[in-house]
Amino acid sequence: MNHLRLFPGRFAAMESRKRARSLKIETVAVHGGDQHDPGHGAIFPPITTATSFVQPNLGEEGRFAYSRCGNPTRNAYETAIADLEGGCWATATASGMAATALALELLRPGQHILVMRGLYGGTHRLFEKVRSFSMNLHFTFLDLNDVKSVCDQIREDTGMIWVETPTNPLLALVDIPRLVEAVAAARQGKGERILICADNTFATAWNQQPLKMGVDIVMLSASKYIGGHSDMTGGALVTADKTLADRLGALAKSVGAIASPFEAYLALRGMKTLAVRMERHCGNAQRLAEFLSQHPQISEVHYPGLPSHPQHSLCKKQMRTGGAVVTVRLKGASSGGETDLDVMKRFFSKLRIWVLAESLGGVESMINHSATMSHGSMTKEQRAEVGVYDTTLRLSVGIEDVTDLIDDLNEALKS
Ligand SMILES: *Cc1c(COP(=O)(O)O)cnc(C)c1O
Repeated sequence: MNHLRLFPGRFAAMESRKRARSLKIETVAVHGGDQHDPGHGAIFPPITTATSFVQPNLGEEGRFAYSRCGNPTRNAYETAIADLEGGCWATATASGMAATALALELLRPGQHILVMRGLYGGTHRLFEKVRSFSMNLHFTFLDLNDVKSVCDQIREDTGMIWVETPTNPLLALVDIPRLVEAVAAARQGKGERILICADNTFATAWNQQPLKMGVDIVMLSASKYIGGHSDMTGGALVTADKTLADRLGALAKSVGAIASPFEAYLALRGMKTLAVRMERHCGNAQRLAEFLSQHPQISEVHYPGLPSHPQHSLCKKQMRTGGAVVTVRLKGASSGGETDLDVMKRFFSKLRIWVLAESLGGVESMINHSATMSHGSMTKEQRAEVGVYDTTLRLSVGIEDVTDLIDDLNEALKS
């Protein structure tokens, strides 16, 4: 396939966005965006580390001027990720958190935000511990599926709704089209626009495309499935709205929390195999969830792809699969002065393939012990309120052979 023909190059970027929309995501992951190299026709864009770009003459500007404002490698990745999410524009940031922080710059001091309860801990910290002070933003955490309560909570100064679906680690879903519709109806004619942002890190565009369901901005941590190899940190904001793209572009340039050319290269390289990896990740996760739900040592399995998940029918409607993360609760200590944490330590010491690690989305299978890792800053009572116990484990299912993964867990559970 000829890139130059399919995606006719940098001056026709908007045209390429339109073409990409008619292609399947497996094709867009490989060919999306403006990846052509005008210098040598390289099949993969080079890493351009230059800070500055030579201007042809006074008053004549080249395509790029200064790398904070625009860089060829970053541009190749940004246009590709925009196509992948079904947007018209994207900005690549230094991390997922930098992307979220950038989205908040769209607001005025003192504004109000509705937030999905049970979202990623780092986002919770940025909202509650940082921006509530530095920008005096007000956050209301609630279940965004309860649209009656969402509408009741919308205030004159509500400027944003922050969606995360599935949530972390209990994998609750938000019915995106229903939320979008309810917010539009609640706001009709009164007050200013409420921006709906969705963190699509867990699902990825392969599972769901929130922009196509009416969300205004998609936020991503590329450190997870986009990069996919646990070797880079990055984030992105994507939108299909030209006005928002202009505003976010100006903000990205002003704040400067951009992805480096090298990280952009890694993210783009990772993105090319997103579809094949997700297919394996999610297929393995489904098999593993089915196995664990029958296991005598497991008391709870949370996985949207299982019929036992309370939102299984929403999952079938909104997502391609149940995703690649499975959360379980082990049966705890039964007797003899042992604590739940003792039991967990013994379990972890027996694992040979699965690794105990922060993060998710890499090719290798990882387990996160939510109570001491992602939710370590909460008290035991606060954790219990959100359903996280000392025996709760979040499994990021890798792309290894699923029977090896099952055997490894099974051996450790026997102990
Ligand atoms: C990891 C993660 C983030 C933060 O991304 P970083 O790249 O670590 O800054 C945000 N949201 C979700 C759902 C995540 O998993």
